[in-house]
Amino acid sequence: MTRKSSRSTPRRPQVIDSLPPLSHKLARWRARHDKVALVPTMGALHPGHLALVRLARRRADRTIVSIFVNPAQFAPHEDLNTYPRTFAADVAALAVLKADAVWAPSAATMYPSGFATRIVPEGPATVGLEDAFRPHFFAGVATVVTKLLIQCEPDIAVFGEKDYQQLKVVTQLARDLDLKTRIIGAPTVREPDGLAMSSRNVYLSPSERAAAPTLHRVLAACAKKISAGTPISSTLTEGRTAIENAGFVVDYLEARHAETLAPVASRSEGPLRLLVAARVGKTRLIDNVAA
Ligand code: AMP
Repeated sequence: MTRKSSRSTPRRPQVIDSLPPLSHKLARWRARHDKVALVPTMGALHPGHLALVRLARRRADRTIVSIFVNPAQFAPHEDLNTYPRTFAADVAALAVLKADAVWAPSAATMYPSGFATRIVPEGPATVGLEDAFRPHFFAGVATVVTKLLIQCEPDIAVFGEKDYQQLKVVTQLARDLDLKTRIIGAPTVREPDGLAMSSRNVYLSPSERAAAPTLHRVLAACAKKISAGTPISSTLTEGRTAIENAGFVVDYLEARHAETLAPVASRSEGPLRLLVAARVGKTRLIDNVAA
Protein backbone atom coordinates (compact mmCIF):
# COMPACT_ATOMS: atom_id res chain seq x y z
CA MET A 1 0.00 0.00 0.00
CA THR A 2 2.63 2.47 1.08
CA ARG A 3 4.73 1.70 -1.95
CA LYS A 4 1.76 2.12 -4.28
CA SER A 5 0.75 5.50 -2.85
CA SER A 6 4.30 6.83 -2.97
CA ARG A 7 4.47 5.88 -6.64
CA SER A 8 1.21 7.68 -7.50
CA THR A 9 2.07 10.81 -5.47
CA PRO A 10 5.32 12.29 -6.77
CA ARG A 11 7.59 13.88 -4.20
CA ARG A 12 6.86 17.59 -3.89
CA PRO A 13 9.77 19.90 -4.62
CA GLN A 14 10.82 21.87 -1.58
CA VAL A 15 9.01 25.21 -1.59
CA ILE A 16 11.35 27.93 -0.33
CA ASP A 17 10.19 31.47 0.38
CA SER A 18 13.10 33.16 2.13
CA LEU A 19 16.79 33.59 1.43
CA PRO A 20 18.45 31.68 4.32
CA PRO A 21 16.97 28.25 3.42
CA LEU A 22 17.64 28.94 -0.26
CA SER A 23 21.32 29.65 0.48
CA HIS A 24 21.47 26.57 2.68
CA LYS A 25 20.08 24.32 -0.04
CA LEU A 26 22.40 25.80 -2.68
CA ALA A 27 25.43 25.33 -0.40
CA ARG A 28 24.57 21.64 0.03
CA TRP A 29 24.28 21.17 -3.73
CA ARG A 30 27.51 23.07 -4.34
CA ALA A 31 29.33 20.88 -1.81
CA ARG A 32 28.30 17.89 -3.94
CA HIS A 33 29.41 19.70 -7.13
CA ASP A 34 25.89 19.47 -8.50
CA LYS A 35 25.18 21.53 -11.61
CA VAL A 36 22.24 23.85 -10.89
CA ALA A 37 19.61 25.14 -13.33
CA LEU A 38 17.11 27.94 -12.76
CA VAL A 39 13.84 28.35 -14.66
CA PRO A 40 12.33 31.76 -13.84
CA THR A 41 8.53 32.00 -14.19
CA MET A 42 5.56 33.97 -12.97
CA GLY A 43 3.63 30.76 -12.31
CA ALA A 44 0.29 29.74 -13.86
CA LEU A 45 2.42 27.04 -15.43
CA HIS A 46 1.45 25.55 -18.77
CA PRO A 47 3.21 23.04 -21.05
CA GLY A 48 5.48 25.81 -22.41
CA HIS A 49 6.93 26.40 -18.95
CA LEU A 50 7.13 22.67 -18.31
CA ALA A 51 9.20 22.18 -21.47
CA LEU A 52 11.73 24.63 -20.01
CA VAL A 53 11.82 22.60 -16.80
CA ARG A 54 12.38 19.37 -18.75
CA LEU A 55 15.22 21.00 -20.66
CA ALA A 56 16.75 22.24 -17.39
CA ARG A 57 16.47 18.75 -15.87
CA ARG A 58 18.31 17.28 -18.85
CA ARG A 59 21.12 19.84 -18.62
CA ALA A 60 21.66 20.01 -14.84
CA ASP A 61 21.67 17.88 -11.70
CA ARG A 62 19.35 20.21 -9.77
CA THR A 63 16.51 22.35 -11.04
CA ILE A 64 15.03 25.34 -9.24
CA VAL A 65 11.86 26.87 -10.65
CA SER A 66 11.16 30.38 -9.44
CA ILE A 67 7.56 31.51 -9.21
CA PHE A 68 7.27 35.24 -8.67
CA VAL A 69 4.73 37.61 -10.20
CA ASN A 70 7.08 40.56 -10.46
CA PRO A 71 5.28 43.84 -9.72
CA ALA A 72 8.19 45.81 -11.20
CA GLN A 73 7.44 44.66 -14.74
CA PHE A 74 3.77 45.67 -14.74
CA ALA A 75 2.63 49.24 -15.49
CA PRO A 76 -0.16 50.60 -13.26
CA HIS A 77 -2.78 50.00 -15.99
CA GLU A 78 -1.61 46.40 -16.62
CA ASP A 79 -2.87 43.10 -15.20
CA LEU A 80 -0.76 42.60 -12.02
CA ASN A 81 -3.83 42.09 -9.81
CA THR A 82 -5.67 39.77 -12.17
CA TYR A 83 -2.63 37.83 -13.44
CA PRO A 84 -3.54 34.11 -13.05
CA ARG A 85 -2.16 32.50 -9.88
CA THR A 86 -2.34 28.69 -9.59
CA PHE A 87 0.39 27.97 -7.05
CA ALA A 88 -0.81 24.59 -5.73
CA ALA A 89 -1.32 23.21 -9.24
CA ASP A 90 2.08 24.60 -10.28
CA VAL A 91 3.85 22.79 -7.45
CA ALA A 92 1.97 19.57 -8.28
CA ALA A 93 3.04 19.81 -11.95
CA LEU A 94 6.65 20.44 -10.88
CA ALA A 95 6.51 17.40 -8.60
CA VAL A 96 5.62 15.24 -11.60
CA LEU A 97 8.65 16.62 -13.45
CA LYS A 98 10.86 16.07 -10.40
CA ALA A 99 11.96 19.67 -10.03
CA ASP A 100 14.11 19.96 -6.91
CA ALA A 101 12.97 23.26 -5.48
CA VAL A 102 10.47 26.05 -6.00
CA TRP A 103 11.78 29.50 -5.13
CA ALA A 104 8.68 31.54 -4.29
CA PRO A 105 9.68 34.75 -2.53
CA SER A 106 7.06 37.29 -1.48
CA ALA A 107 7.19 40.78 -2.96
CA ALA A 108 8.49 41.99 0.42
CA THR A 109 11.36 39.48 0.31
CA MET A 110 12.25 40.50 -3.23
CA TYR A 111 11.77 44.24 -2.72
CA PRO A 112 12.08 44.96 1.00
CA SER A 113 11.11 48.36 2.27
CA GLY A 114 13.82 50.83 1.21
CA PHE A 115 14.72 48.90 -1.95
CA ALA A 116 16.18 51.54 -4.29
CA THR A 117 18.00 49.90 -7.21
CA ARG A 118 16.92 49.36 -10.80
CA ILE A 119 18.81 47.69 -13.63
CA VAL A 120 18.02 49.63 -16.82
CA PRO A 121 19.08 47.56 -19.84
CA GLU A 122 19.96 49.08 -23.22
CA GLY A 123 20.96 47.38 -26.50
CA PRO A 124 18.27 44.80 -27.31
CA ALA A 125 16.01 46.41 -24.68
CA THR A 126 15.77 49.67 -26.66
CA VAL A 127 15.17 48.57 -30.24
CA GLY A 128 11.55 49.75 -30.49
CA LEU A 129 9.62 46.49 -30.10
CA GLU A 130 8.14 45.60 -26.65
CA ASP A 131 10.01 48.57 -25.16
CA ALA A 132 8.03 50.99 -27.36
CA PHE A 133 4.72 49.72 -25.98
CA ARG A 134 5.74 48.72 -22.41
CA PRO A 135 8.40 51.30 -21.47
CA HIS A 136 8.60 50.09 -17.85
CA PHE A 137 8.91 46.42 -18.78
CA PHE A 138 12.57 45.58 -19.38
CA ALA A 139 13.90 47.47 -16.36
CA GLY A 140 11.46 45.42 -14.26
CA VAL A 141 12.54 42.19 -15.92
CA ALA A 142 16.26 43.01 -15.77
CA THR A 143 16.09 43.95 -12.10
CA VAL A 144 14.25 40.80 -11.04
CA VAL A 145 16.28 38.47 -13.26
CA THR A 146 19.54 39.92 -11.95
CA LYS A 147 18.33 39.34 -8.40
CA LEU A 148 17.19 35.78 -9.20
CA LEU A 149 20.54 34.96 -10.81
CA ILE A 150 22.46 36.35 -7.83
CA GLN A 151 20.19 34.59 -5.32
CA CYS A 152 20.32 31.19 -7.02
CA GLU A 153 23.78 31.37 -8.65
CA PRO A 154 22.70 28.81 -11.25
CA ASP A 155 25.11 27.33 -13.78
CA ILE A 156 22.40 27.67 -16.41
CA ALA A 157 19.10 29.54 -16.65
CA VAL A 158 16.45 28.63 -19.20
CA PHE A 159 14.24 31.23 -20.90
CA GLY A 160 11.65 30.76 -23.66
CA GLU A 161 11.97 32.05 -27.20
CA LYS A 162 8.28 32.92 -26.82
CA ASP A 163 9.54 36.17 -25.23
CA TYR A 164 12.26 36.61 -27.83
CA GLN A 165 13.31 40.18 -27.02
CA GLN A 166 13.40 39.29 -23.31
CA LEU A 167 15.69 36.33 -24.09
CA LYS A 168 18.09 38.68 -25.89
CA VAL A 169 17.94 41.25 -23.07
CA VAL A 170 18.69 38.63 -20.41
CA THR A 171 21.53 37.13 -22.47
CA GLN A 172 23.10 40.59 -22.85
CA LEU A 173 22.59 41.38 -19.16
CA ALA A 174 24.29 38.19 -17.99
CA ARG A 175 27.24 38.92 -20.28
CA ASP A 176 27.54 42.61 -19.37
CA LEU A 177 27.38 42.00 -15.60
CA ASP A 178 29.86 39.07 -15.71
CA LEU A 179 27.28 36.78 -14.20
CA LYS A 180 28.46 33.17 -14.13
CA THR A 181 25.18 31.79 -15.46
CA ARG A 182 24.86 30.56 -19.04
CA ILE A 183 21.53 31.67 -20.54
CA ILE A 184 19.80 29.01 -22.64
CA GLY A 185 16.87 29.67 -25.00
CA ALA A 186 14.12 27.08 -25.49
CA PRO A 187 11.70 26.85 -28.46
CA THR A 188 8.13 28.09 -28.20
CA VAL A 189 5.54 25.47 -27.29
CA ARG A 190 2.29 25.88 -29.21
CA GLU A 191 -1.31 24.69 -29.08
CA PRO A 192 -2.21 22.26 -31.87
CA ASP A 193 -3.64 25.20 -33.89
CA GLY A 194 -0.37 27.13 -33.62
CA LEU A 195 -1.23 29.61 -30.86
CA ALA A 196 1.81 30.12 -28.63
CA MET A 197 1.00 28.91 -25.13
CA SER A 198 0.78 31.76 -22.62
CA SER A 199 -0.58 32.19 -19.10
CA ARG A 200 -2.59 35.10 -20.52
CA ASN A 201 -4.46 32.92 -23.04
CA VAL A 202 -7.03 32.23 -20.29
CA TYR A 203 -8.19 35.83 -20.74
CA LEU A 204 -9.40 35.11 -24.29
CA SER A 205 -13.15 34.82 -24.94
CA PRO A 206 -14.19 31.90 -27.18
CA SER A 207 -14.32 34.14 -30.27
CA GLU A 208 -10.96 35.77 -29.43
CA ARG A 209 -9.46 32.32 -28.85
CA ALA A 210 -10.74 31.28 -32.29
CA ALA A 211 -9.01 34.32 -33.88
CA ALA A 212 -5.78 34.00 -31.90
CA PRO A 213 -3.98 31.38 -34.09
CA THR A 214 -4.01 34.00 -36.88
CA LEU A 215 -0.86 35.48 -35.36
CA HIS A 216 1.21 32.37 -35.85
CA ARG A 217 -0.42 31.56 -39.19
CA VAL A 218 0.52 35.01 -40.54
CA LEU A 219 4.04 34.87 -39.08
CA ALA A 220 4.63 31.47 -40.69
CA ALA A 221 3.24 32.64 -44.05
CA CYS A 222 5.39 35.81 -43.97
CA ALA A 223 8.49 33.78 -43.09
CA LYS A 224 7.86 31.47 -46.02
CA LYS A 225 7.38 34.34 -48.48
CA ILE A 226 10.45 36.25 -47.26
CA SER A 227 12.58 33.10 -47.48
CA ALA A 228 11.33 32.65 -51.05
CA GLY A 229 12.54 36.15 -51.92
CA THR A 230 9.37 38.30 -51.64
CA PRO A 231 10.36 41.77 -50.37
CA ILE A 232 10.07 42.19 -46.59
CA SER A 233 8.08 45.41 -46.56
CA SER A 234 5.22 44.33 -48.85
CA THR A 235 5.07 40.94 -47.10
CA LEU A 236 4.68 42.58 -43.70
CA THR A 237 2.11 45.09 -44.96
CA GLU A 238 -0.06 42.22 -46.20
CA GLY A 239 0.54 40.30 -42.97
CA ARG A 240 -0.53 43.27 -40.86
CA THR A 241 -3.76 43.59 -42.86
CA ALA A 242 -4.51 39.88 -42.40
CA ILE A 243 -4.03 40.21 -38.63
CA GLU A 244 -6.22 43.32 -38.47
CA ASN A 245 -8.92 41.56 -40.51
CA ALA A 246 -9.01 38.85 -37.82
CA GLY A 247 -10.00 41.54 -35.28
CA PHE A 248 -6.63 42.52 -33.79
CA VAL A 249 -5.08 45.91 -33.19
CA VAL A 250 -1.46 45.44 -34.24
CA ASP A 251 1.22 47.03 -32.03
CA TYR A 252 3.99 45.83 -34.35
CA LEU A 253 4.78 43.24 -36.99
CA GLU A 254 8.46 43.50 -37.85
CA ALA A 255 11.42 41.69 -39.33
CA ARG A 256 14.57 42.11 -37.26
CA HIS A 257 18.10 40.75 -37.19
CA ALA A 258 17.77 37.58 -35.12
CA GLU A 259 20.70 38.45 -32.83
CA THR A 260 20.87 42.25 -32.56
CA LEU A 261 17.15 42.87 -33.19
CA ALA A 262 18.20 45.76 -35.46
CA PRO A 263 15.71 46.62 -38.25
CA VAL A 264 16.46 44.91 -41.58
CA ALA A 265 15.38 45.92 -45.07
CA SER A 266 16.31 42.74 -46.91
CA ARG A 267 16.86 39.13 -46.06
CA SER A 268 20.53 39.35 -47.07
CA GLU A 269 21.12 41.38 -43.88
CA GLY A 270 21.40 38.30 -41.73
CA PRO A 271 19.39 35.65 -39.93
CA LEU A 272 15.94 37.14 -39.46
CA ARG A 273 13.29 36.94 -36.80
CA LEU A 274 9.72 38.06 -37.39
CA LEU A 275 8.06 39.44 -34.28
CA VAL A 276 4.48 40.44 -33.63
CA ALA A 277 2.47 41.99 -30.80
CA ALA A 278 -1.26 42.52 -31.19
CA ARG A 279 -4.27 43.16 -29.02
CA VAL A 280 -7.64 41.46 -29.19
CA GLY A 281 -10.26 42.66 -26.72
CA LYS A 282 -8.41 43.26 -23.46
CA THR A 283 -5.64 40.75 -24.17
CA ARG A 284 -2.25 41.49 -25.68
CA LEU A 285 -0.48 38.58 -27.40
CA ILE A 286 3.09 38.32 -28.66
CA ASP A 287 4.75 35.75 -30.90
CA ASN A 288 7.76 35.34 -33.17
CA VAL A 289 9.30 32.93 -35.67
CA ALA A 290 12.62 32.52 -37.47
CA ALA A 291 12.62 33.60 -41.14
P1 AMP B 1 6.29 33.80 -17.74
O1 AMP B 1 5.78 32.97 -16.64
O2 AMP B 1 5.26 34.16 -18.76
O3 AMP B 1 7.11 34.98 -17.26
O4 AMP B 1 7.31 32.89 -18.54
C1 AMP B 1 8.36 32.25 -17.90
C2 AMP B 1 9.27 31.65 -18.93
O5 AMP B 1 8.54 30.72 -19.72
C3 AMP B 1 9.85 32.70 -19.90
O6 AMP B 1 11.19 32.39 -20.17
C4 AMP B 1 8.97 32.52 -21.11
O7 AMP B 1 9.60 32.91 -22.31
C5 AMP B 1 8.72 31.03 -21.08
N1 AMP B 1 7.54 30.67 -21.85
C6 AMP B 1 6.29 31.19 -21.72
N2 AMP B 1 5.46 30.65 -22.63
C7 AMP B 1 6.20 29.78 -23.35
C8 AMP B 1 5.92 28.92 -24.46
N3 AMP B 1 4.71 28.85 -25.02
N4 AMP B 1 6.92 28.15 -24.94
C9 AMP B 1 8.17 28.22 -24.40
N5 AMP B 1 8.49 29.01 -23.37
C10 AMP B 1 7.53 29.79 -22.85
